[in-house]
Amino acid sequence: MCGIFGIYPHKDAAKIAYLGLYALQHRGEEASGIITRQGKKIHLHKAPGLVSDVFDEDIIAGLRGDMAIGHVRYSTTGSSNVKNTQPFYTKTRIGDVAIAHNGNLINAKELRREMEERGSLFQTTMDSEVIAHLLARSPAGNYKEAIIWALSQLKGAFSLALMLNDILIGARDEFGFRPLCLGKLDNAYVLASETCALDLIGAQYVRDIEPGEVVFIFRDNIESVKFAKSSRCAFCIFEYIYFARPDSCIFGHNVYAVRKKLGQRLAVEYPKKADLVMPIPDSGTYAALGFAQASNIPFEMGMIRNHYIGRTFIQPTQFLRDFRVKVKLNPVQGLLKDKRTVVIEDSIVRGTTSRARVKTLRQSGVKNVEMCVSCPPLKHPCFYGIDFPTEKELIAARHSLEWIKEFIGVDDLGYLSLEGMLESMPLEKDKFCTACFNGEYPIKPPKRLLKNVLEKE
Ligand code: 5GP
Ligand code: MG
Repeated sequence: MCGIFGIYPHKDAAKIAYLGLYALQHRGEEASGIITRQGKKIHLHKAPGLVSDVFDEDIIAGLRGDMAIGHVRYSTTGSSNVKNTQPFYTKTRIGDVAIAHNGNLINAKELRREMEERGSLFQTTMDSEVIAHLLARSPAGNYKEAIIWALSQLKGAFSLALMLNDILIGARDEFGFRPLCLGKLDNAYVLASETCALDLIGAQYVRDIEPGEVVFIFRDNIESVKFAKSSRCAFCIFEYIYFARPDSCIFGHNVYAVRKKLGQRLAVEYPKKADLVMPIPDSGTYAALGFAQASNIPFEMGMIRNHYIGRTFIQPTQFLRDFRVKVKLNPVQGLLKDKRTVVIEDSIVRGTTSRARVKTLRQSGVKNVEMCVSCPPLKHPCFYGIDFPTEKELIAARHSLEWIKEFIGVDDLGYLSLEGMLESMPLEKDKFCTACFNGEYPIKPPKRLLKNVLEKE
């Protein structure tokens, strides 16, 4: 996963990109970067870390120019070293190219091998770099055709903010796996992964970039081209379940409302008698609200989140064994003692954090813990940018419900059904990619990736 942002033309481009990335921080905490263009000059600053750590006032002031793109990184392909931070910048035959990419290309390795055989030298291990090489190698006569040609070579998930000389470009793959929206601020156009970035900078939402669409943003106009005929959409349903911010509208609908509906449906599928419903904060909160309202059981915040943890340098010792878990979430003593609780989690991936949370919860003296999860069991790896790349890591791919219940240490465990999830969505079910739940991949993954799928005994 990653967050991307772009703006042009605006005199405070870098400052606004900084704020935009700040709002998109949840999409990637590993590294941040902004590149700007001032006349023919390029300014770039990127480093590992959170947006607020990577930039300061002086750095932003140095990022001059009226065009900017930015990126927050959550590494899914390419190892996590500095070289692999974005935006990626290079000079090519057709000019200066900078790329901020969200999503995973599934044919990046194949394209790369082909180009290396023909003499291309790659600087990083990121799949995004192939886009720059494609542009450089394009047989097309002009920049527009070059972009369209390059985009049509790519397979997989990509929402992109590109700088090509003095043009800002936004593009989304033909399936629309990852979100990307277009906004307007003064005379400038803005590209952002989610609308929460537009809200923060006071930009107006114009529309989503459509699947298979590329927009060229010039100094005083904008042009849209369909580079691929979109046979079907495959919006990532996990964006609604977990990834996007609840105050965003993605794929045309508010995320908070969707999560609440998932919780309401969960309450219908699992009627419970309990003293309280509580979320595992923050991500479980919205489904828990829906569950509590639909089941008429009081909603309580049974665990409190510390919002200031960042990365702690203290290594947990035996004495601080539960430190990592407790520093982030601590149960409210007194509130939970002897209570029958329904705990709502948005998703279980590896099961390890859920297990740790339940253990601390038990220490507060709850009478019982019944857990409900607002999506079905995650059984298949994602090849389009969510961070569960191999089946081995997914607890539900290898184990039964009963086994997971024991492992997590709850008295009862229920997952939302696939139909329940799909019927809670604001769009028809065939608009989504649900591969992580049912293994139906909208684009057939190459053999190389399928080795990540467990061989069935
Ligand atoms: P688990 O119990 O599987 O170890 O962790 C489940 C928790 O991880 C849930 O609270 C969920 O909100 C969160 N989660 C789900 N998907 C992702 C992801 O892609 N990255 C991260 N960092 N957390 C995730
Ligand atoms: Mg969570």
